[in-house]
Amino acid sequence: MSNFLPNELVKRLNEQEGFDSAAFNKVHEQGDKITSIRLNSLKQDSAPFENVNLVQWCDKGYYLAERPIFTLDPLYHAGCYYVQEASSMFIAHILKEIGLENSVTRALDLCAAPGGKSTLLTSYLGNESLVVSNEVIKSRANILADNMVRWGTANVVVTNNDPSAFNRLPGYFDLLLIDAPCSGSGMFRKDHETIDEWSLANVKLCSDRQKRILAESLNSLITDGYLIYSTCSYSKEENEDILDWILNEYAFESIPIALDSDWGIEETQSTKHQASGYRFYPHKVKGEGFFVAVLQKKENQSSFSRKKIKFEKNVVPSKIVSDWVEERQDYTQFMHGDYIHIFPKNYEEDLRWFQQVLYIKQAGTNIGKWTGRELLPSHDLACSIHIRTDLPAKDVTLDVALQFLRKDSLEIVDFTAVKLGWCLIQYKGTNLGWIKILSNRINNYYPKEVRIMNL
Ligand code: SAM
Repeated sequence: MSNFLPNELVKRLNEQEGFDSAAFNKVHEQGDKITSIRLNSLKQDSAPFENVNLVQWCDKGYYLAERPIFTLDPLYHAGCYYVQEASSMFIAHILKEIGLENSVTRALDLCAAPGGKSTLLTSYLGNESLVVSNEVIKSRANILADNMVRWGTANVVVTNNDPSAFNRLPGYFDLLLIDAPCSGSGMFRKDHETIDEWSLANVKLCSDRQKRILAESLNSLITDGYLIYSTCSYSKEENEDILDWILNEYAFESIPIALDSDWGIEETQSTKHQASGYRFYPHKVKGEGFFVAVLQKKENQSSFSRKKIKFEKNVVPSKIVSDWVEERQDYTQFMHGDYIHIFPKNYEEDLRWFQQVLYIKQAGTNIGKWTGRELLPSHDLACSIHIRTDLPAKDVTLDVALQFLRKDSLEIVDFTAVKLGWCLIQYKGTNLGWIKILSNRINNYYPKEVRIMNL
């Protein structure tokens, strides 16, 4: 038995038929670090690294041969890819299997920070879907919002609410993803320091919290809507037992997901209802510990009454918007204070409903501040996939890109051939942010909250 993994954890895993505890312990002792990224195919066609290998269950996921210093890669800051643990990318396979890839889906990612699964949802659900990406902890909601801005799509609403707030939207969502806070044993190979914090008491506490989160949010799911439930814990109490609890308390059906046996993912069944779950063990897959299951709601869920809400119509100077954003019939624009946002037209009415019941951090893409005379373009616009491609831009070297991302001052000599005014800084053809070129200096508009600090 390992001398550093919690004995109680290994003992319980050993109770599972066929569990190979020697291989499990060995992989933890070796502590190999696996690095994987998921491409943002709306910004980048191929992995910007050499010697990559595809993640078998995710066609945008790649293993890297070694771990670069991501902070020093401008494409990371530009949202060209997300550094995501490979097992979690299985959600992409699930979306395909349940027929939601490139669909029209209203999705809620309830425990979303820092945004790995929300960025995956926007990529795979496609442009006609809406992703509400929620995080209860305020500081983490800020990180989530930054990551969603980098990703660049406008069909996203970032909220900062307790799960119970979503009870106020009964029957609204077609898909509810709950990547629940858990005891975290699945991350032990990556992060040995958390091993000492593990205890059976904490597993119990997490399991109770998981039930509470589910109980407080399940009625936001429409009849026949899908619940994807996941954790990075190995404990049955947080995984299969939670499935049994849901099936005891609510009318749901377990949805098995087809797998390729080469992937090494283990299908398990809950004790009472034989609900299917999928376990990822680091000695069997090239990824960290993960559990995921899909359930479909069979309860007749009432919906909230969609009375039309009267709202003050803010007139947005639309010529201004089309100066900065590619014209699209399926997007609308609205003012929030002095800021102009673009948002999918199909969900405009829904957004007003959200405003009644949720704390919204960010809706769609804030394209900039309207002064009454001109638009001061936002960083969010620079990251947006909807920005016009014919705006003034300057592709810069790695050194200049890093100076920009550190919010250092830039040398005017590097920009002599560029017209005065707003200009996008690009690296390898991808926008990083804005500068303003004046006759005698350059103003660097990279947001200080996301600038590179220590490298
Ligand atoms: N889905 C995220 C991703 O893929 O990037 C990771 C989510 S992490 C496993 C769980 C999240 O749940 C954390 O961001 C944590 O702040 C949040 N959380 C903690 N306590 C919570 C609670 N009581 N209700 C809802 N969310 C909670």
